[in-house]
Amino acid sequence: MSDITSTDVLIIGGGPTGLALACDLTRRGVACLLLERAARPAAASRAKTIQPRTLEVADDLGVIDRILELGATHVPTRLYDRDRVVSEKVEVAADATSPDAPYAPIWMSQPLLEGILRDRLAELGGRLEMGTQVTAVTQHHGGVTATVRTASGTRRVHARYAVGCDGGRSFVRQQIGVQLQGVSYTEHRWHLADVRVHGLEPGRQHLWTSPEHGILSLFPLPSTDIWQFQASIPADQADPPEPSLELLRHIFAERAAVPGVTITDADWLSLYRINVCLADRYRVDRVFLAGDAAHIHSPAGGQGMNTGVQDAYNLGWKLAAVLTGADAALLDTYEQERRPVAQAVLDDSTARLHAVMQAAGSSDGSSPHKGLTGDFTTGLTIGYPNSPLSQGPTAGGRAPDAPCKDASTRRTVRLFDLQRGPHWTLLSFGDHATDLPQATLPLRAYRITTDPSAAGPTTVIDIDGHAHRAYDALDGETVLIRPDGYIATRCPTHAVRDVLARALAPATAH
Ligand SMILES: Cc1cc2nc3c(=O)[nH]c(=O)nc-3n(C[C@H](O)[C@H](O)[C@H](O)COP(=O)(O)OP(=O)(O)OC[C@H]3O[C@@H](n4cnc5c(N)ncnc54)[C@H](O)[C@@H]3O)c2cc1C
Repeated sequence: MSDITSTDVLIIGGGPTGLALACDLTRRGVACLLLERAARPAAASRAKTIQPRTLEVADDLGVIDRILELGATHVPTRLYDRDRVVSEKVEVAADATSPDAPYAPIWMSQPLLEGILRDRLAELGGRLEMGTQVTAVTQHHGGVTATVRTASGTRRVHARYAVGCDGGRSFVRQQIGVQLQGVSYTEHRWHLADVRVHGLEPGRQHLWTSPEHGILSLFPLPSTDIWQFQASIPADQADPPEPSLELLRHIFAERAAVPGVTITDADWLSLYRINVCLADRYRVDRVFLAGDAAHIHSPAGGQGMNTGVQDAYNLGWKLAAVLTGADAALLDTYEQERRPVAQAVLDDSTARLHAVMQAAGSSDGSSPHKGLTGDFTTGLTIGYPNSPLSQGPTAGGRAPDAPCKDASTRRTVRLFDLQRGPHWTLLSFGDHATDLPQATLPLRAYRITTDPSAAGPTTVIDIDGHAHRAYDALDGETVLIRPDGYIATRCPTHAVRDVLARALAPATAH
């Protein structure tokens, strides 16, 4: 062993979950180190939907502009019956933005998102080591020690906490003795690949379904010349062959047969089996699991990567608070809040998978994309009403956005602009002054008024009443928003001193 590195948080695995966590911790000033086994970034397309709630997280992490630049909001689906076009439509959810939820789902392949997060991490001054594999994790009083292997040898890393973001086959999960409970849907198998396609109109997904063969989809990945090839394998096919370019061409000829189309350059050829599993625990002492390391689901509904990024976003501020003196019990709320969400995602994505396969097997030509969008998949309905951090009957819900006007500059300001950053946010509706206690953690307080002539540096004018409506708030009410954008509590503004002291206690240094 040549040397020893020390850090506060060791993050194992540089996929979307680990990268999001590293960005969040780094911007909070937490010393962290992200280790990734692969020497080079993964090129395989995998996930291609970024859901609205994840886009709100991306907004807070400072990467939304780049995502909107490289991703696509509208990718219509062209449905065929062999070589005949049956219909072309855009999923309704793509247009479903509103003043309180400003982002529609974005289509973007996973490697592009990972690249954006890597760039952001570098910009923030974060530490990522590629080509570094964790080969042992042990816990001892006050810390975690990982043994890591690189091309130049083996060394140890000491950390106060470690987070396994190392994917579905998680080595960290095995090291800490956590079991995955779940099922394999052996009847649902897919041939997947990244390919180039010549002769199909770009900018739309091309989709074939039949009772005999199932589903074939060719999806153009925005800002690349790559198409994602997905073909379901008939349930009665015993030993399906490993995919090859020849096999993909054969499947296309058999199911699609659109003249003049050629498929070339097949990469990431895989035979994918659907597993649906959940870790029985998310934490053993000082080691946490996040992302696919904690939950694996079917790709239906486009949830895996999104759920992982949101795990990271839930855990990041809590680790930062505990490292600066908050009660370590705050970290228990990570599993309490996120495991039920993963269970709900598992149930929903499994139901969607069955619906998709059933629709593809019917002879009425129904699109298997029916039911692929909906409120739950957007992530916007996720909340933590049963969390110990949610105080009061309406606490735990997502803190919505609203366009308002800055009373000083008279420019448009969104509530998300006020929340962006690592702080807590206090919104006091009406014209009452907020009598703030001396906050021991980063907290920003704003007054939200409907008075168009109001002035003041922390006053915001709710010109169209969007903020009052989104929060269902009456004048004289104050709402406390957590650093990850969920409502911690609400109370009469005159009582804010007492209520704040109680609500903030679990996250405050003692
Ligand atoms: C075909 C397909 C389609 C999908 N579609 C969607 C979709 O539409 N929407 C969606 O949200 N999700 C989708 N997913 C799921 C998504 O790809 C995963 O949920 C996502 O990759 C999980 O991210 P993660 O960071 O948790 O894990 P991973 O992306 O698996 O990253 C884990 C990282 O850890 C590294 N690692 C592993 N072991 C070690 C070690 N010992 N030391 C150091 N590093 C290690 C690995 O190299 C890897 O880079 C899809 C997946 C597939 C296969």
